Parts: sequence; C-alpha cells; structure tokens
Amino acid sequence: MNARVLVTGGAGFIGSALVRHLGAESDYRVLNLDKLTYAGSLSSVEPIADAPTYEFVQADICDGPAIAAIFARFDPDIVVHLAAESHVDRSIDGPDAFIETNIVGTYRMLRAATQHWKGLEPARRERFRFHHVSTDEVFGSLGPDGFFTEETPYDPRSPYSASKAGSDHIVRAWHHTYGLPTLVTNCSNNYGPYHFPEKLVPLMILKALAGEPLPVYGRGDNVRDWLFVEDHVRAIRRVFEAGRPGETYNVGGRAERTNLEVVRAICAILDELRPRADGRPYTDGIAFVADRPGHDLRYAIDASKLEGELGWVPQESFDTGLRKTVGWYLANEPWWRAIQAGQYGGERLGLKQAG
Ligand code: NAD
Repeated sequence: MNARVLVTGGAGFIGSALVRHLGAESDYRVLNLDKLTYAGSLSSVEPIADAPTYEFVQADICDGPAIAAIFARFDPDIVVHLAAESHVDRSIDGPDAFIETNIVGTYRMLRAATQHWKGLEPARRERFRFHHVSTDEVFGSLGPDGFFTEETPYDPRSPYSASKAGSDHIVRAWHHTYGLPTLVTNCSNNYGPYHFPEKLVPLMILKALAGEPLPVYGRGDNVRDWLFVEDHVRAIRRVFEAGRPGETYNVGGRAERTNLEVVRAICAILDELRPRADGRPYTDGIAFVADRPGHDLRYAIDASKLEGELGWVPQESFDTGLRKTVGWYLANEPWWRAIQAGQYGGERLGLKQAG
C-alpha cells in the first residue's frame, strides 16, 4: 500500500508545487487539505487533479472536529503542514488571521496528529512524520554579513514572522513533550510558477506587462536569499523521507539579491522575451515608494546541514529559475488574469495600522 501524505495548504504557492511534484514523481497517495482563502486556488493543482492518487478536501485547520475526522478517514503516514497566512504586508494590516491560522491552527493540527499517531500500530508509528514548513523570517534581520543557521536565536519582527515563530516553538514542544516525530524546515524567499501576484516577483512581472510603474520599497536595498519553489519542494520531500525526527533544517538557494537587483533582472528578461511596444527598457518603470514599516534589511540562509546530511542541493541558479518563472507567467496568462479579476488587483498592502 502506498504511503499516504496529508498536505495542508496544498492550493497555495508552495503547497501546490509540492502536490504537483508528488503527483508527477512519486507513488504517494496525497490528500490536499486547504481552506481556499484568497491565496488558495484549485487552478494551481489542475495538472494532477484527476490523478487516482490525489484528492482534495476543503477544510479549516482551526476546525478541530473537521481535522480529526480527516485524520480518521485518510489515515496519513506523513503530514506536511504548509497552510498559513503568509504575506507580511497583510499581517501588518490585519494580524488576527495570522494568530488564528498560524498559531491556533498549527496547534489543532498537532493535537489531531498526536492522537492519530498514538493509535498507529508500532511499525507505522515509527515511520510517522509531522513536517512543519516555516520561514527564515523567524530569525530576525542580518547586517551585511553572516548567515542564519539552525542555531540562530529567534528574533521575529513582524506579526507574520512572530506567528510563524510561535508555531515553530509549539511544534518542537510537541516533539519534546509527547514524542511526536516532527521535522521543521525554515526556508528563504521562494519564487516560481503559480505565485500569487501580491509577492515581489510576480507583482513586478505583471505590472511591467501592464505598463504600470514598478513600485520598489525604500531604495530597494533589502536583501533576500531566493529559492526556486521546485528546489524547495525537492528539499521538503528529502527532509520528510530522510530527516531525523526532532531536527530542524534550513533551506536556501544561495542566491542573495537586493530587491532592486531582482526587479532589474526581471526587466532584463522581459526586454528580451516581450520587448515594450515603445522600445524603451522596462527599468524605466521603476518607482521608489514608501518602505514597509519595520522592513528587515537582510536574510541569508546557511543550508549546509541539509546539503551535508541529506545531500540536497538546489538545481536552479537564480538566473535559470527566474527565466523559467518569467516564461511561465508569459505562457499562463489565464491563470493570473483569473486571480486578478477575482481577488487581487495589485494594490499596495501593509501601510495600515492594526487596531
Ligand atoms: P500561500 O499564501 O501561497 O498559501 C497558503 C495556503 O494555505 C493557501 O492555499 C490557503 O488557502 C491555505 N490556508 C490559509 N489558511 C488556512 C486555514 N486556516 N486552513 C486551511 N488552509 C488554509 O503560502 P505559501 O507561500 O505557499 O507558503 C506556504 C508555507 O511556507 C507557509 O507556512 C509559509 O509560512 C511558508 N513559507 C513561505 C515562503 C515563501 O517565500 N512563500 C518562505 C518561507 C516560508
């Protein structure tokens, strides 16, 4: 019997990449559990929607009885928990959903998983894993030098990163207190196909194509370490298949870029693949706008534990990954047009005060 993987948040950006990967390149039976918030779209899992090894259920991870019933029915061997509110700017405007889903929802998932795990027969109990997907933002901000390692103390600064930090601690507590075989991965900024257009890379591609100004926060000198989403899902699979329970692994692309460098790189690819009608370079559209409140200067990941222990390395460089990403948005206009029409038109987020 094929092992069963319960993926939460599988209609989102990274979760859908994981579900598509498992559908195409494994024998796992996959249940995708997702609430379908503004960030979730079943169009992102269309390529595997009809596969006999795949099913979808709409549910809220905060709904304890619904989650318990799903565990009882699907009987998972592995849980990969990605469901979350994920956008820093939205966490500034309205933190409630972040506390609710990221902290309370993770707790409810752990509670259901622990109950399920305790009832498994010994061999399956031994192999069971609860893999929690988190972010490098829990570590706070770096100066110009240094890297986040698995030992870096937590120092979250935004409502989003604080809620993810809280959830990471709760997951580790469930390992130490109840023995649940947990894994935590903290990864850097992902980019790639099917990325919701509020995030930097798709936002810039779509604004450039629409002939709109390209809004760069502050002076564009905040540095992020960019990870191609398909490299990330290969890392997730490697960790839940071979990682040591109770451990944390950092995942990064060894691709540090300032936001301005990212925007310029997108412009250069578009100049080549879809030149502007007026013949001018896309960089002419760059417009510096008010910075994000509390904007962390630099994140950079040291992924050597994952590379050394589990033999994972990213397959894409930033240049090859970005070219694939821009090409995907050019070729998949119906996907992003539907999202723009339905949920998000590219407006500025993250300047309101919580209250
Ligand atoms: P996303 O916002 O694209 O997708 C989140 C998914 O979770 C959506 O499909 C949404 O419908 C679902 N969801 C939200 N609340 C839910 C709830 N209460 N119950 C069930 N489903 C719910 O996010 P993403 O970018 O794919 O991120 C996935 C995970 O990876 C998150 O935990 C995020 O914190 C983490 N992460 C993301 C990045 C990144 O660069 N995108 C970086 C580091 C870590």
